[in-house]
Amino acid sequence: MHTDIVAALDIGGTKIAGALVDSGGDLLVRTQRPTPPAGEGEQVMAAVGEVLGELAASPLWPAARAVGIGSAGPVDSNAGTVSPVNIPGWRDYPLVRGVRELAGGLPVTLVGDGVAMAAAEHWQGAARGRVNALCMVVSTGVGGGLVLGGELHPGPTGNAGHIGHISVDLDGDSCPCGGRGCVERIASGPNIARRALERGWLPGPDKDVSAAAVAASARDGDPVAVASFERAARALAAGIAATATLVEIEIAVLGGGVAKSGEVLFAPLRRALREYATLSFVRGPEVVPAQMGTDAGLIGAAAACGDVRPARAARAGRRVRTPSAEGRPCP
Ligand SMILES: [Zn+2]
Repeated sequence: MHTDIVAALDIGGTKIAGALVDSGGDLLVRTQRPTPPAGEGEQVMAAVGEVLGELAASPLWPAARAVGIGSAGPVDSNAGTVSPVNIPGWRDYPLVRGVRELAGGLPVTLVGDGVAMAAAEHWQGAARGRVNALCMVVSTGVGGGLVLGGELHPGPTGNAGHIGHISVDLDGDSCPCGGRGCVERIASGPNIARRALERGWLPGPDKDVSAAAVAASARDGDPVAVASFERAARALAAGIAATATLVEIEIAVLGGGVAKSGEVLFAPLRRALREYATLSFVRGPEVVPAQMGTDAGLIGAAAACGDVRPARAARAGRRVRTPSAEGRPCP
């Protein structure tokens, strides 16, 4: 009999996933819907409702104690609203209120997807047992989350650790966020591919122009592909070095599709980090691949709900116990 179950939602621009997660981090029931493309706010919410409805139809649902949401950002966990860049129908959308109503009044916790990923890696993945960690998703975008003092640090609005929009190139390209020279503008998958194409990289016979295809060329020694990954690695290293200098992280965990490129990315990243992180207290943070895979969003949404009590904790800006310390994800 499961007594501590959390309903987890992982909301992104392409899919809305849901699961019932137990205190061991196992996904007992799972379901998903495509995110309605260019959908109105209420259409997207209807898809969330379908996902929750399917979870609620499970005989395990009565054991659910809370709902954890990890959403594409920005999010505002104080206001309970989300404005995901890649879900145009949602701007300051009152997601928490809607989910609470659909979930019969259960407490709802909202964090950004990077924070959720950090919660998952800290609970069960590469950052397990670590006191100070930066966890990053390098994919279509670049996001992240922080563990500080052994606890998830979502920040007042649930977005802390969003390393993708730290500027590492003062006169660099303008970024869709409104800034300039952001890590994401250099190191995201589409930007790695864009830079390679601009500098003369030619895709193979399959015409695949993804970052994965550029990574394959880099492994074959194509100098333009190698250079594009090295540039991305330097941007990531500069962001990690800045983070290490500010909060003294001991490990950086990299997940997401681009991180799956392996040593094509990790080798120049570790090299560049030695160049940028030079003061005694920032030297030598480990840089490792994420371990949680595609379920990180769901597991992290469940974990975050033990780390961030709904609204109250976020408003007070105080830290609360971690799921790993409690051995279970939620109240
Ligand atoms: Zn930016």
